[in-house]
Amino acid sequence: MLTMGVDIGSASSKVVILKDGKDILAGVVVPVGTGTSGPTRALQQALEMAKVSKSDISKVVVTGYGRMTFKEADEQVSEITCHAKGVHHLVPSARTIIDIGGQDAKVIKLDEHGYVTNFVMNEKCAAGTGRFLEVMARVLEVSVSDLQELGDQAENIVPISSTCTVFAESEVISQLAAGQKSADVVAGIHQSVARRVAGLAGRVGLTPDVVMTGGVAQNGGVVKALERELKVPIVVAPKSQLTGAIGAALIAYEKISKR
Ligand code: ADP
Repeated sequence: MLTMGVDIGSASSKVVILKDGKDILAGVVVPVGTGTSGPTRALQQALEMAKVSKSDISKVVVTGYGRMTFKEADEQVSEITCHAKGVHHLVPSARTIIDIGGQDAKVIKLDEHGYVTNFVMNEKCAAGTGRFLEVMARVLEVSVSDLQELGDQAENIVPISSTCTVFAESEVISQLAAGQKSADVVAGIHQSVARRVAGLAGRVGLTPDVVMTGGVAQNGGVVKALERELKVPIVVAPKSQLTGAIGAALIAYEKISKR
């Protein structure tokens, strides 16, 4: 039996096709999110990758910030529930999830069965989210996928004192103009994201294992900076950007199996 999970974020659209609740036949990320052609393109690409048609899919669950806009799903489920389901499936020892996406950051606590026991979310401000990194990457004239490598070359950390993204952007421009090395500035940018998310995590506390998901988990520089701030090791979820969509596809499978 085939089920589909769709995760429409602010920055990207993700689609997963799952066979019998375990085998991933397709996992697609299109780097544009809600309000764009991203969801439709991700859906088409996933069907092509799995070599199936939409009518072969028994149930589609959609999640993410843009879930209300996706008409081809049978059901909508919150991102918190889907990330918890996806992470529990991939890393059963996870008790805390840190999810940093395009325009929000969440810390989710879960029990040994994968049920959510608590969560906190920052959705009011770009600081501590993927958008902050996108803004800074543009100033540095690099791609977000280059930030890790650049930050790895840092000899010092140039601290970014502004928490506001707009002021932090001006600060980065000034630091570069003053001759600071871009690698050192990137280290400061990663530290800024980590501090912000660590503050959020402090509100619910951390229980190991701590697992990171979302697009920003692909930036090892942020992961390392967070480990330094939180003083705990962090496991990066496999297919970190797809965990919400994997969770959605698993929920679709469970709902059908229960019938
Ligand atoms: P959302 O679900 O909110 O749309 P994602 O979980 O897809 O967001 O995360 C998007 C963020 O992930 C981007 O803003 C960017 O900072 C980061 N990102 C995306 N791709 C990469 C990559 N290849 N390397 C490093 N960071 C990435």
